[in-house]
Amino acid sequence: MSRLDDIAAIRAEFPQLSRLIHGKPLVYFDNANTAQKPRAVIDAVSGYFTEHNANVARAVHTLGEEATSLYEAARDKLARFVGARSREEVVFTRGTTESVNLVAYSFLRPTLKPGDEILVSRMEHHANIVPWQLIAAETGARVVPAPITDTGELDVEGTVALMNERTQLVGLVHVSNALGTINPVATIIAAAKARGIPSLIDGSQAVPHFKVDVAALDCDFYVLTGHKLFAPTGTGALIAKREHLDAMPPFMGGGEMIRRVSFEGTTFNDPPHKFEPGTPNIAGFIGLGAAVDWLEAVGMDAIAAREARLRDTMRAALGEVDGLRLIGTARERAAVFSFVVEGAHAHDLATLLDHEGVAVRSGHHCTHPTMQFFGVPATVRASLSFYNTEDEIAAFVAALAKVRRMLA
Ligand code: PLP
Repeated sequence: MSRLDDIAAIRAEFPQLSRLIHGKPLVYFDNANTAQKPRAVIDAVSGYFTEHNANVARAVHTLGEEATSLYEAARDKLARFVGARSREEVVFTRGTTESVNLVAYSFLRPTLKPGDEILVSRMEHHANIVPWQLIAAETGARVVPAPITDTGELDVEGTVALMNERTQLVGLVHVSNALGTINPVATIIAAAKARGIPSLIDGSQAVPHFKVDVAALDCDFYVLTGHKLFAPTGTGALIAKREHLDAMPPFMGGGEMIRRVSFEGTTFNDPPHKFEPGTPNIAGFIGLGAAVDWLEAVGMDAIAAREARLRDTMRAALGEVDGLRLIGTARERAAVFSFVVEGAHAHDLATLLDHEGVAVRSGHHCTHPTMQFFGVPATVRASLSFYNTEDEIAAFVAALAKVRRMLA
C-alpha cells in the first residue's frame, strides 16, 4: 500500500494541479522544466516568514536560532535523501548551474593547463558545458564531447576510450533533460576513477524520479537543483567529497564563509560554510527540506514504480501518433519524451496545446549540441511526474491530434 494508490488525494496536495487553463483542466507535462510544489513545501516557506523570519548563523536570539536550525535541518535532510557521506559534504547553492560553476572555478581552474581535457557527453545541458568552456578558454584546455548513439544513449566504449592522461574531469548527466535517457553513471564513474580522473554527475533530472545514493556511486561531485525536486527556485546543492572541499579555495568571498578577517589576511570557515557566503535563500532551503521529507514519506521506490507505468503508457500512446518522431529512444529512460511532428513547428504545437490546457516545453531545452546531433532545431518535450495520470496522457494525445488537424 502506497500513498500513491490514492492519486486524487496526492494531487489535492498540489494546488496548482486543479487550475483550469483556457477553461480546460491543466495537464502539466513540463516537470523537467520545473516541478509543482506540494502544500507541505508552500506551508514550510510561508511558515518561515510568518513565524521564524530571521537571518541564519548570526543571531543568538530565538528567531535567529529557529531560522538557523530549520535551515541546517534542511542540509541534514538533503544529505540523507541523496546518501551523502556526511552533512559537511552538502554545499547549498542556487542550483545546478551554480554548483557546476563552483566546481569549474574552484576545483578545476586553478590546476588546468594548456592541452588538458574536460570530457563531457554530447547530451549535456548547457550548464554542464559552458562553465567548462569558459575555464578552458582561459587556460588553453579543451572540452571534448563524449559520443552518443542514434538512440540517444551514451556510447560507453567510445567515452571510456576518450579518457586519457590529459583528461582532468569527466562530466555526465544522470538523466538527460532533452532525451529522457538514464545514463550508466556508475560505469563511467568507475572507469574515470580507475584512471584517476575526477567525475561530476548532473543529477538535476534524476533525484526527482528515483532513489540516488551518492556515496554508493562514489563520484567526486554530484549536483542538483531544488526547483525540479518540488522545492522553491534558487535552491540546489553540490555534494562533493570532503577531501576536495577541504582543498578547494572559496568561490565567492563575503560574510559567513570566514573564520577571521583582517587586512593582513583572512582565514576561512570549514566546508560547507566556506562556499556559502552572504545571506542564503533561507525560506527556499527550508522548503527544500520540506520537499525531501514529503518525497520520503511517499517513498522514492513507489514514485519510480508509478512513473515507470506512466512512461510505458505514454510511450505506447506516442507510438500511435502518425508522423511523430521520438528524439531519443533509449531503453533505460525516464518519463521524459522529446518529439517532432511532421509538418508542424514545435513552438506552434506547444502554443496550441496550451490552448487545450496542456503545458509542454518546446525549444532546444538548453541542449544545442544534442539538437545538432539529431539534426533538429527544436522539439516538443512532454515530461511527466508521479502526480500525472493515465487520463492526462489520453487528454494530451487527443489534444495533440486536434492541434495537428488545425495545423494541417
Ligand atoms: N542540468 C539539467 C539536466 C537540467 O535539466 C537543468 C535545468 O533544466 C539544469 C542542469 C540547470 O538547472 P538550473 O537552471 O536550475 O541551474
